[in-house]
Formats: sequence, structure tokens, C-alpha cells
Amino acid sequence: MKLSFAKKLTASYLFVATVTLLITGVFLSHHQNLWTAGAAAFLIAMGVSWITMRKISQPLRDLLASMGVETQDELGHLARTYSDMAARIEEKVRDLSRERTQLGAILSALIESIIAIDHQGKLLFLNPAAKNLFGLQSGDISGRPFLEVLRHSLLNDVLTQTLTERRVIQKEITLHAPEERVVSVHALPVDYGQGQTGVLAALHDITELRKLENIRREFVANVSHELKTPLTSIKGYVETLLDGAINDPEHNQEFLKTIQEHTNNLSQLIDDILDLSAIEAQRVNYRFEAVSVKEVVDRIIKALDPMAKAKKVTVVSKLSDTLPKARADREKLAQIVINLIDNAIKFNKPGGEVRLHAEPNGTALKLQVTDTGRGIPPEDLPRVFERFYRGDKSHSHEVPGTGLGLAIVKHLVEAHKGTITAQSTPGQGSTFQFTLPLA
Ligand code: ADP
Repeated sequence: MKLSFAKKLTASYLFVATVTLLITGVFLSHHQNLWTAGAAAFLIAMGVSWITMRKISQPLRDLLASMGVETQDELGHLARTYSDMAARIEEKVRDLSRERTQLGAILSALIESIIAIDHQGKLLFLNPAAKNLFGLQSGDISGRPFLEVLRHSLLNDVLTQTLTERRVIQKEITLHAPEERVVSVHALPVDYGQGQTGVLAALHDITELRKLENIRREFVANVSHELKTPLTSIKGYVETLLDGAINDPEHNQEFLKTIQEHTNNLSQLIDDILDLSAIEAQRVNYRFEAVSVKEVVDRIIKALDPMAKAKKVTVVSKLSDTLPKARADREKLAQIVINLIDNAIKFNKPGGEVRLHAEPNGTALKLQVTDTGRGIPPEDLPRVFERFYRGDKSHSHEVPGTGLGLAIVKHLVEAHKGTITAQSTPGQGSTFQFTLPLA
């Protein structure tokens, strides 16, 4: 049977007292000497006390020494419990710190920006993506008011509304600094401890998605418009002819020619759209080989000669016979060059010139098509490679085209791992330059 510590102590003292009394009694009965009996009782009491105290203090000493106590009494039990508890706490702290590291790594790797604020609108946390989105230096910003750090009133409204209404709020907002981005904000109220509610917001950058949607919407609108205009005109002329103009020898030829022109444009437009969508969907196969660029250019200049003559434009090739070969798909290269020379003639003025130049440049071959035409205004320059982009709207009906040529050219050049740029001085002319890898 195990005795409790307090009982043990009481028992020890009762035992000491009893023994002392007994011995005193025995001595008194034998010797009638009070002093001797007292001294003997004192010594025995001291001995028993010492043994008792040692027994009591042993577990404590062991606890301090090693936390592993052999004693089976309650102090020993307490020490073991304490030691177990310490081990468990240590393990918990290790687990927590591991979880914290994992969570930190996940939040850092997230593409989404994560923002956490407390019930007063003070920042608790911002992951690196969020710092990047708002152009913040990586410093400690926690504890500072959200509005002061991020300076965005629309986002502030979303977070404040989430705090006050305590419900999930989703909204699309546009950030203007450090650069224009469209983000979808998903904010939800969260209890972050001590019964306080803060907000956790995830910001997803949907700029590219919106851009693509706009391009697609514009594409459909443009295609419909480009198809509708010539069709309306064709319909009109056909009706006029049927109404009797067919018997009018003065106009019937003219009307039929206009119909033919529009039909050609429509068929060109459809070819371009099909070409472009095949290229964009990567449904085009390329047969790359060592190609003599000079040969391709000469063939095209010859083919476009009637068009150049009609526009009174001279096309000059400055390509040397010793030009190294390029790694290209012969037909696609021809398509690139045709589009560029076609534009250079089309947007030229009578008596103007188109010059072709090529030279090796590092591991690439650099080709230039320069014209002496009307040029491109600086604000249009970055847009000429966009689908359906046609500069100078007021004159666009004078020059046939679909606005798809340069978009196709850019795709084709990039499929060759090359780059294309345009430079221009309005009123003086433009230069389109592209590169192809050397064979
Ligand atoms: P398109 O020629 O069918 O209009 P492109 O994609 O080839 O379409 O060209 C887009 C626009 O870029 C043209 O409408 C024109 O405004 C401008 N552009 C292209 N090439 C030239 C050039 N050589 N000189 C002036 N403007 C040009």
C-alpha cells in the first residue's frame, strides 16, 4: 500500500514521538535518570528525522539532477509527469514551428496575393506576391494600418465591408500603381484568436485573362464588321444590277468589277483569318532547312513587280550573293517577306522606293525592309502587330487590307525563334526589321 506524502510525514513524526516517549519511559523505569533518557530520545529522534527527510528530498534531488526518478512515491510521480509534460511541450513547439515553416513556404510560393488584417484594419500578414503586386519593399510592415501601407481605397472598401458585414465579399478591382493590373479580390472574415475577427483576402491577378477576353471580343466584332462591309456593298450592287442596271452597258461592267474586288477582299480576309487561327492554335507544321534568303527575296520582288509598277514604286534588293543561309521554312519565310514588301509598296507614295537589306548579326541573320512611304505615327507603332489593327482609319478604305498581315508576320517570325520590330518617321518612311537564326 502506498502512503500519501502528507500521511508519510505525519506517520514519521508520530513514529518519532512514540519512540521518543517509549525510550524515555524505558530509561526512566530502568535508570530513573531523566537526563540520560532525554539525550537518548533526542538522538533517536534526530536519526529518524534524518532518514525521513532524506526519503522526502530524494525525488526532488533526482528531479533536478536528471528528471528520471526511481522513487515510487508521489513526488516521484509528480517529477515524471512534469518531465513527460516538458517533452510533450517541446514536441508541440517543434510541430508548430515545422507547420509554420511549411505554411510560410506555401504562402511564399503562391501566385495569389494574400493579405491578412486585424479587426482594426492593421496588417497582420502580406505574402511576397502581395508585396510584389503593391510594389512594396520587403520590410516588416505588420502592425501598420492597411490603408497607409497599400494606399488603395477600393481594396480598403472591400476589406472594411468584409469586417463590418462579416461575410465573404468578392470583387474585381483595378490597381493603377505600380502598374495597371486587374485583380479579383476574395475577402473573408476570419477569427484570428481571442475572439477577434479580421479579414483574410486573396487577390488573383486576372489582367492577362481580361486582356485575352478583350482581344477575343474585339476579334469577333472586327471579323463581323470586316465581313459585313463588303457583303453589304456586294448585296447593293447585285440588287441594282437585278433592278435593271444589268442592261445598262455604261455601268454594268463597273458594278461587276466592284463586286469582284469586294469578293477578292472577302476571300483574302477569310484566308488571313484561317491562316492566323491555324498559326495561333499551332496547327501549322514548319519544315526548317537551310534557306538562301536572297533567292526567296528575289522571287518575291519579281512576283510583286506588277503591283510596284502600278503604284510607281521601285523595289531594290541590296542582298549580297555571299549572304549566309538562314534556318527557315521556305514558304513561311516567303509569306513574311511578301507581307512586308506588300505593305511597303501599298503605303508608299508614287515615285517612292522599297529597299531590302540583310546582314549576319551574331548567330542571326538581320533583314530590313525600308520604304519611303507615309510612315507610322509613334502612337500607332506599338500596335501595328495587333490583329485587325489598321492605322490611319480615315485613309484605310483607300488602301485594301485586313489588318491581319503584320499579326501573321509576327507569329511566323517568332515561330522561327526570331524577333521583329518597326521603326518609322512619319512622312518619311518606315523600316521593318526581323531576325532569323543562321543555318
Ligand atoms: P493591312 O496592311 O492589311 O492593313 P497589316 O497588319 O499588314 O494590315 O498592317 C497594319 C497597319 O500597320 C496598316 O493598316 C498600316 O496602318 C500600318 N502599316 C503597316 N506597314 C506599313 C508601312 N510600311 N508603312 C506605313 N504603315 C504601315
